[in-house]
Amino acid sequence: MTQNDTTTVGALASATRSPALQLRDLRKSYGDVRAVDGIDLTVERGEIVAFLGPNGAGKTTTIDMMLGLARPSGGTVQVLGFEPHQAVARGEIAAVMQTGGLLKDVTVRETAQMMAALFRSARPVEEVLARAGIADIGDRMVGKCSGGQQQRLRFALALLPDPSLLVLDEPTTGMDVEGRREFWAAIRADAARGRTVLFATHYLDEADAYADRIVLVRHGRVVADGTSAQIKNLASGRVVSATLSGVSEVELAAVPGVERAERRGDRVLLRGKDSDAIARHLLTHTAARDLEIASTGLEDAFIALTGDTTEENGS
Ligand code: ATP
Repeated sequence: MTQNDTTTVGALASATRSPALQLRDLRKSYGDVRAVDGIDLTVERGEIVAFLGPNGAGKTTTIDMMLGLARPSGGTVQVLGFEPHQAVARGEIAAVMQTGGLLKDVTVRETAQMMAALFRSARPVEEVLARAGIADIGDRMVGKCSGGQQQRLRFALALLPDPSLLVLDEPTTGMDVEGRREFWAAIRADAARGRTVLFATHYLDEADAYADRIVLVRHGRVVADGTSAQIKNLASGRVVSATLSGVSEVELAAVPGVERAERRGDRVLLRGKDSDAIARHLLTHTAARDLEIASTGLEDAFIALTGDTTEENGS
C-alpha cells in the first residue's frame, strides 16, 4: 500500500465514524451584518432536524455554507467528515431548495434522466421517482405538475446521488395543505431508511410533526436545541385551566409555581413549568373544578424564544 493509499483509507475510516454534520463556531458576515454569529451544531446520522428561526435569522446562510455555496468568515463545517465541496462532489450531501431549476417543457422522467446523466454513479431513475412518490406521473410535463409535485421532483433529483445528508431549505413554501402532507410523507418514508435530514421551515407545525429535534436560531445563533416537547417546555411549560370563580388574577398569580395567570369568564388559565404542583394546589386549596392540563404550542415557544424580550434565553 502506498503512502497515498494509506492516507485515503485513513480519511475514509475517519469519515465513516464522523457525525452527519458538524458546525464549529461557524460565522458569516456581510459587511456589518453578522448573518451567522458563532453556530455550534452536531447532527448525528439518522436524525431529522428542523432548523427554525424568524426571517433573517441566518438559516439560509448556514445551509449555503453546508453546501459549499458560501465561504465561512470563521469556524468550520464538516459533512460526514468532509469539507462541504468534497461532500457535494462525493454525493454525500444534496439539497432541495425552494424554487428554480426545473424545465417546464420536459417530462418528470426526462428531467430525472437528464440529471442522472450528470452523475458518475446515480440511483436508477425509476427508483428515485418511486421514493419521491411520483412514479405514476413520470410522463407528465413538468409545467403541468402542481407545486407539490414539482417539489417532490426536486426531492427525487436530490436522491439521485443517494446522499447521506439531505438538506431542505423551506421546501414547502407556497404549497397547499395536501401538497405539504404528501411531500412530508415521501420525506419521512425515505428518512426511515436511515438518511439524515435537516430542513429549514417557517411552518412550526411541520417542525413539530416531522423533526426528531428542533434547533432554533435567532440573530445567527442557536437559542434553543431539543425535541419539540423540550422546546415547548423550555419556553413556557404547561397551562392548567379550571372553572373557578371569586378568585382574582393577582391571587392566582401568587399560587406556587404559577408564572402567569389569566381569567377568561369563569375559567382561569395558569401557566407554569410544574403543572402538577399547580393542579394540586387548585384541587386542595380552592373550589376549582373541570381541571385541564395542556402543553403550550410550539408557536408560543417559538415567539417566546425568538422574540426580542428574551434576548439571552437559551444562548
Ligand atoms: P428567511 O427565513 O427570511 O429566509 P434566513 O434565516 O434564511 O431568513 P438569511 O437569508 O441567512 O436568513 O439572512 C441572514 C442575514 O444575512 C439577513 O440579515 C440578511 O439580510 C443577510 N444576508 C443574507 N445574504 C446576504 C448577502 N448576500 N448580502 C448581504 N446580506 C445578506
